[in-house]
Amino acid sequence: SGNNAASSSDLFAVSSPNVVYTDSEILSKYTYRTTSVTKNGAGKYVATPKETVYDFKVDRKIPKVGVMLVGWGGNNGTTVTAGIIANRRGLVWETKEGPRAANYYGSVIMGSTMKLGTDPQTMKEVNIPFHDVLPMVHPNDLVIGGWDISSMNLSDAMDRAAVLEPTLKMQVKKEMAQMVPLPSIYYPDFIAANQEDRADNVIPGSKASTAHVEKLRQDIRDFKAQNNLDKVIVQWTANTERYADIIPGVNDTAENLLKAIEQGHEEVSPSTVFAVACILEKTPFINGSPQNTFVPGAVELAEQHGAFIGGDDFKSGQTKMKSALVDFLISAGIKLTSIASYNHLGNNDGKNLSSQRQFRSKEISKSNVVDDMVEANSVLYAPGEHPDHTVVIKYMPAVGDNKRALDEYYAEIFLGGHQTISIFNVCEDSLLASPLIIDLVLVAEMMTRIQWKQASQSDYKGFHSVLSILSYMLKAPLTPPGTPVVNALAKQRGALTNIFRACVGLEPESDMTLEHKLF
Ligand code: NAD
Repeated sequence: SGNNAASSSDLFAVSSPNVVYTDSEILSKYTYRTTSVTKNGAGKYVATPKETVYDFKVDRKIPKVGVMLVGWGGNNGTTVTAGIIANRRGLVWETKEGPRAANYYGSVIMGSTMKLGTDPQTMKEVNIPFHDVLPMVHPNDLVIGGWDISSMNLSDAMDRAAVLEPTLKMQVKKEMAQMVPLPSIYYPDFIAANQEDRADNVIPGSKASTAHVEKLRQDIRDFKAQNNLDKVIVQWTANTERYADIIPGVNDTAENLLKAIEQGHEEVSPSTVFAVACILEKTPFINGSPQNTFVPGAVELAEQHGAFIGGDDFKSGQTKMKSALVDFLISAGIKLTSIASYNHLGNNDGKNLSSQRQFRSKEISKSNVVDDMVEANSVLYAPGEHPDHTVVIKYMPAVGDNKRALDEYYAEIFLGGHQTISIFNVCEDSLLASPLIIDLVLVAEMMTRIQWKQASQSDYKGFHSVLSILSYMLKAPLTPPGTPVVNALAKQRGALTNIFRACVGLEPESDMTLEHKLF
């Protein structure tokens, strides 16, 4: 399944002179309306409505897609693999609360809907599954593979992860026991020393090399050929690495980065070597961990090759709440003055993060998530003013993958009063991250089939290499150099929704519902 052309239009078709469906493509002419703001001589803002007409072209043929996970044998890697198998086979398993069936809860693409419009007769909203807006790959059709520095097969690794119910594991064990991660590159200085005993599946060499890049490229090509795939998406869900130092002449430009790899410079991380291999293969690469994989040279290389990259760090639990709650508070005109975030977790991620340099990567990615919302509100905050924000993570083996996140939001309200909101969030971390891994694959893949041009141009081209449309799923969104980062959850979802709508020639969802107010 999954190889047939044109499946999304089964549910709806757009009836508009600006939209044309062919057997292989959806073509739309879309007027993008924005507001350009300048300051005049008297220091007054001048807001000018602006229109740009874009042609979008969507390839309707749903390809056969493979996903290669770096860190496949980890908690996320095994959980997402078991989850896809369970969905594909429609599995049901017993729990103490009764039978449970496979689902894709937590995936915005598979689990949420989008308002298509309003039925004029009933005045009611018509909502459709997000997955049906564009001709997207179904996750059940994904072929999964990947690398790990641990040679454990996926069934044993799933037991090691201790995330899933035994009654579910029993049903996927046989299939997963056949899955064994490819050997990976391991440069011990980048992850915690406490990970060393896992590393029994490594490609020789403990620093970056051209041979490593070539080996990973070959692995991608082999995987593609063995499984008859049209394309592959690679995602880093391996351990959090320490930050790499940005050194002029080493990783500041594409050329220098390639040279540094050739010369075996020790400041080039495994995740950057993976990124470079994928970029050179024109395989989309997404970084699900917080480290600075995308050093300036890697971003430049992606731009040069027109290859897609996305990152950083899955936005699963605490930070997702934060980017919704802070958006709400500040948009409500409430002056947030501090956020204290504590976490404890007992999985291997927590063990790795108990090491200072790896924790520091996480601390950075968790800390900047309210900046855009604070900066946007000049009524509450003076220039440079910022709420206090602290992030603590502790390793507590007993709680396993059931991460605890305790957050206190402290705000100033009307006439000097205070509002304190305390949140205690308990969740299996990998069950939150797995649907995000799926969403990142599905959206990144979709973006490889969307092209655009302006009316005056003759050739279509792809979106910018840095896929900021993935921001909703990521804690520290990577954006094209020089463009702003949006952390606010509702805005991120709006971007995803409305870009998809534009591709089928539909206006953005404005929530004005004038049709219910003006009659
Ligand atoms: P994990 O420790 O269970 O899995 C990581 C796997 O990566 C391990 O199997 C390890 O052997 C492997 N590995 C380490 N270095 C490697 C390399 N160079 N090449 C190939 N494999 C390598 O961790 P996890 O819970 O699955 O999380 C994975 C990553 O995702 C972590 O960095 C974590 O911070 C990040 N993350 C997770 C969540 C979540 O909600 N679970 C959210 C945000 C970010």
